[in-house]
Amino acid sequence: MNLFDSEHVSRPYRRVDVCILLIAALVAVAVFMIDAFTALDIAVAVFYVVVLLLVASTGSRAAVLSTGAAVAILTLAGFGFSHDTDYSWDAVARCVVSLVAIGTTSLLSLRNLTNTAQLRELIDLLNLTHDAIFVYDLTGSITFWNNGAETLYGWPAEHAIGQHIDKLTQTRFPNSETEIYAALVDRGHWAGELQRVCRDGRHVTVVSRIALWRDAKGKPRAILATSNDITLHKRMEMVLSQRQQELRAAIDTIPGMVWSASNEGEVVFVNRRWEESGMDTGTQGADLWQAIVHPDDLDRMRCDWQISVASGRALDNVSRVRQRDGDYRWMHIAAEPQYDAGGAVRRWYGVNTDIEARKIAEEALKRSEAFLVDAQRLSKTGSIGISPVNGDMLWSSEAYRIFGYEQRPEIEPSLELILARTHPDDRAKVEAAHQYSDAIAPLIDIEYRVLLPDGLLKYVHYVAHLGPPASTDLAYVGALMDITDGRQTQEALARSMAELAHVTRMTTLGELAASIAHEVTQPIAAVVTSGDAALRWLRRDPPKLDEVERSVGQMIKSVKRANEIVRQIRAMAQKRPAPRREVFLDDAVDGMVQLMAPEFQRQGVHCEVHRPIERPRLLADEVQLQQVVINLLMNAMQAMSGLENGPRLIRICTEVLEGREVRLSIQDSGPGIAFEDREQLFRPFFTTKANGMGMGLSICRSIVEAHGGNIGADVASVVGAVFRITLPLYTGPQESRGTAAMNGALSGPRDEGLLRNC
Ligand code: ADP
Repeated sequence: MNLFDSEHVSRPYRRVDVCILLIAALVAVAVFMIDAFTALDIAVAVFYVVVLLLVASTGSRAAVLSTGAAVAILTLAGFGFSHDTDYSWDAVARCVVSLVAIGTTSLLSLRNLTNTAQLRELIDLLNLTHDAIFVYDLTGSITFWNNGAETLYGWPAEHAIGQHIDKLTQTRFPNSETEIYAALVDRGHWAGELQRVCRDGRHVTVVSRIALWRDAKGKPRAILATSNDITLHKRMEMVLSQRQQELRAAIDTIPGMVWSASNEGEVVFVNRRWEESGMDTGTQGADLWQAIVHPDDLDRMRCDWQISVASGRALDNVSRVRQRDGDYRWMHIAAEPQYDAGGAVRRWYGVNTDIEARKIAEEALKRSEAFLVDAQRLSKTGSIGISPVNGDMLWSSEAYRIFGYEQRPEIEPSLELILARTHPDDRAKVEAAHQYSDAIAPLIDIEYRVLLPDGLLKYVHYVAHLGPPASTDLAYVGALMDITDGRQTQEALARSMAELAHVTRMTTLGELAASIAHEVTQPIAAVVTSGDAALRWLRRDPPKLDEVERSVGQMIKSVKRANEIVRQIRAMAQKRPAPRREVFLDDAVDGMVQLMAPEFQRQGVHCEVHRPIERPRLLADEVQLQQVVINLLMNAMQAMSGLENGPRLIRICTEVLEGREVRLSIQDSGPGIAFEDREQLFRPFFTTKANGMGMGLSICRSIVEAHGGNIGADVASVVGAVFRITLPLYTGPQESRGTAAMNGALSGPRDEGLLRNC
């Protein structure tokens, strides 16, 4: 039975109590019957004590009092029945002994009930607390289990009592159980955290305090334990600790030195990175900046800090900060203030970010920008970036300079500014090149003139291509080259070339002088002969006028022929360049063939001309074109001059290629071009001739390329050399020109038979 179970005192009689009371009544009746109606000379009434003890076990004070009174009356009544008036002193003494025993037992039972009631009150008080309180003996068997324990662990007292405490609650100790009991025996108490499992399977953490209860002799008797559920507290503590760890880890791993400082500048916290930098925050104190900031940056840093402290505004500074190894690295130092309830700055929270790599990159960028600016200045090439979507522009400083805006670097680049500096005749071209809206052209490539307000004229070449889409923005990346110098040099070169061409023409004419003189004297002699004949026919009587007319016609024809030869020579001899105009290629070729005809005859050269049915037209400087033809004819003739045997043949052929170009081929039957000479054939001053200048082919190439064509020599030709010129056809409206007509007349009827052979 549970020592502390006193519930009998106040609870209504239980079934067992009723049974006990019935047994007590039977015992009382039995004792009375024996006492009153038998002749036993013993103190039978003493057995009423048993009745009293049975009633006392029900825990009722009233029952004990009434039972005590009743059995006393029954004792006296039994005495009366058994002795009537005849009683001895022995019988009286036995009756008194019985009454004393009944009285004493009643008193002791009442006292016992009083003690039990007090104990019950104590137990009720223990049940009032929310703490789990229980008692177990030295074997671990539970002897007391309060309501708090029932609430915490879920087991009712009826179930818990008698169970082994550690088995019932599956206790897990922080250290060995024996150590705990040893401490308990040693100090009499132990406190610590235990893990236990509740009836519903919940795991709880409790703070347990246990005390050893010893008896009067000091012998351990039982253990009193209290438990407080700290599971929630523990969980919160764990969550809090986890968050703190995460926060700390985040602060420690932030790629920067995190710190907090008082408003006076005293550092109160630094993260791990900062600690690793080797700075001793304890000793630096308020003079922190002096300890870590580079002397050259210190004044600026202090000034910024003082401004922030005075104004309460965020700190933003870039300085070199000393590292553990004594080196300095560039850091961005930023801090924000935190205010207290009164609005005063309570603390500064800052982070120093290492920007050394960025600084190095910036320096490199600055250097490369400086190089670029220098290079752009030297090469007179500016760069222009344009967004084709909205027309936003970016100019380099050299582009500003080329456009003459170098004094106004603040102005926003725009197409209007470009047009304002464009030569009026080129504006339409420039505007057209910047029309992106219809279709985004992959490449812009134009040359135009820039006209500055002071009248300075520049030639520029602008090339831009659509950059790779590094971002979502499309952009033209372009180069604006000031080609004024190049253009001037080119013009000077062209002038020199023209001079040289003139010289070579004159040289050629000089070489042909004898033949030409012969060619001119021939029609003049014919005029004289025809004049004489005309005179003779006139002097006849009657004069033969039809013969005179025929002779005069002959004279006119000869004069025209002489005149045309002179015109050709004068044209070849002229110095100033003629404007380009429509030229019939065949006429130009025929003119030169005519000019060369006497020389061909003299040297035994046979010249064949093959040409197509259509008359290909070119937009060209006719004299330059003729110079090319005469150069090639002269070279062909000179190449064949050494031929001992075999025909001396020049074949001239014109072909129209796909209606866009015309090709003129001049082939001779000479020795051809040596393979090793092919590379240098068109180079100036390359000659294999004893008296050659080596400028003929070079001039030919310049002229042909200036006309948008190209010239080449076929070194693999089986017979002699073949030079091929390709030139763009002129497809514009046809002019009516005297020269062309005259040349056509000179060249005679078109040889369509040869055309078919070509
Ligand atoms: P030059 O006639 O003063 O030598 P060119 O520039 O006209 O200068 O010719 C350069 C060289 O090309 C000649 O010296 C010659 O070796 C070669 N060449 C030109 N035309 C022919 C040709 N039709 N056949 C063979 N070699 C030629």
